[in-house]
Amino acid sequence: MIVLLIIAILVAIAVPLYISATNNAKMNTCKANLRTIDSCIMRYQVLQGGAYPASLDDITGMLKNNKLPTEPAGGSYLLSGTASGSWASCTVGHSC
Ligand SMILES: [Zn+2]
Repeated sequence: MIVLLIIAILVAIAVPLYISATNNAKMNTCKANLRTIDSCIMRYQVLQGGAYPASLDDITGMLKNNKLPTEPAGGSYLLSGTASGSWASCTVGHSC
């Protein structure tokens, strides 16, 4: 009985830590992906004489394997922007 109690306490401590570490890893991976996509947007702008990409499809040729990285939390990446700039965003809500 004592052994089961100790195991239950250890599981109660370990599971939240595991979930937190997994979520942090996903967030940090997503941030790195967003920085990579943003650098491709800037590179596209330089190569196109100041024009911003109309969609993320315009920059996929600059990325590894010619495709957008996978969003680690199951979301996707979007091109956001205003008249003065464009940037990548994540549908899950991660940001750089
Ligand atoms: Zn994300």
